[in-house]
Amino acid sequence: MVGGSILTIGRWCIASFLATVVSSAALHPSWARQPVTLVAAEAEPFTLPATDVQQPSGLPETPTPPEKRKTKVPILVYHHIRLTYDGSRGLRRMTVTAEVLDQQMKFLQDRGYHVITFSDLADYFDQGRELPTLPVIITFDDGWVTQYENALPLLAKYHFPATFFVVTDYIGHRGFVSWPQLQTLLTEGMKIGSHSRSHPRLTKIADPAQLWDQVYNSKVMLESQLEVPVAEFAYPYGSYNTEAAEMVKAAGYRVGRACCTGVAHTSTDVFALRAIMAPNDLTRFQKYIEAR
Ligand SMILES: [Zn+2]
Repeated sequence: MVGGSILTIGRWCIASFLATVVSSAALHPSWARQPVTLVAAEAEPFTLPATDVQQPSGLPETPTPPEKRKTKVPILVYHHIRLTYDGSRGLRRMTVTAEVLDQQMKFLQDRGYHVITFSDLADYFDQGRELPTLPVIITFDDGWVTQYENALPLLAKYHFPATFFVVTDYIGHRGFVSWPQLQTLLTEGMKIGSHSRSHPRLTKIADPAQLWDQVYNSKVMLESQLEVPVAEFAYPYGSYNTEAAEMVKAAGYRVGRACCTGVAHTSTDVFALRAIMAPNDLTRFQKYIEAR
C-alpha cells in the first residue's frame, strides 16, 4: 500500500555524521567510483508510509533452469511491535501488537509453515536448490526498537529467523535499535539487511552517486560495524525502479525486497520481491498468506 497517507514520526536530530566514503574503485561502474561525501543531515521529519504456500508443485525430472523458476513465498513485513494498539491512525496501521504477533507465529508453527531466509530463496533461484513445504519469510522494517524489545523474544520462542531491515543513519537514535542490539539480533540467529542510509524514496533520486550512497554505503557501514555480509536490501516505501534495482544488484546484494503486492515470485523478481504488510489481525493474516 505504498503511496498511502504519510505518517510523520517526529522531528529529531541526526547526529553529526561526517565521513568520506571512497567507493570501491575497480569493481563498479563510473558512478560508483565517485567518492561520496556524507555530510551532517538537516533535522528533517522522518516520514513513513502509513500502511506502510505452497511447495512448488512436483519437481520435474529435469531441473528447471534457474532463470525460469517460480514459487510462492509470503514475505511478511512488520513495523512497530507494541504492547498496546493505540495512538494515531497512522501509528496503529503500522502496529502489530506483541499478542497478535504471538498468535501469528503460533499459526505458522501449527500449520506447518517453514520460516526460511532470503538466502534460501536466493539459493532457490540462483543455485537450483529446493525450498521446504510452506515457506514463509519474516521481515521487520526501519529498525524500530520495539522490534528488538517485543518481537525478538517471540522469534526466539518459536525459533524463527527474521530479517531486520535497518536505516543506518538512524541506528542508535531514540526509538531505534543500537549497534549492540543489532549484534544481539545476529547472535540470536536473525539477519540484518539494509533499508538505505536515510530512508528516501529512491525513485525520487536523480543523481546516481546519491542513489549509490543510499544503496552501497549503507551496506558497507553495516558490514564494517557488524562484521557479517549483508546481502538483503529493502526499498524504502517499497518504491523502486529499474535504476534502483540495478544498483542494488551492482552493490552486491542478492535480493531486493519491495512491498505489498503479493506472494508469488519468479527468478526475474529477485531484486523486486513482493511482500505483504502483516495486519494486526489473525484472520486477515491467514487470508493474506494463503493467497495465491
Ligand atoms: Zn521503511
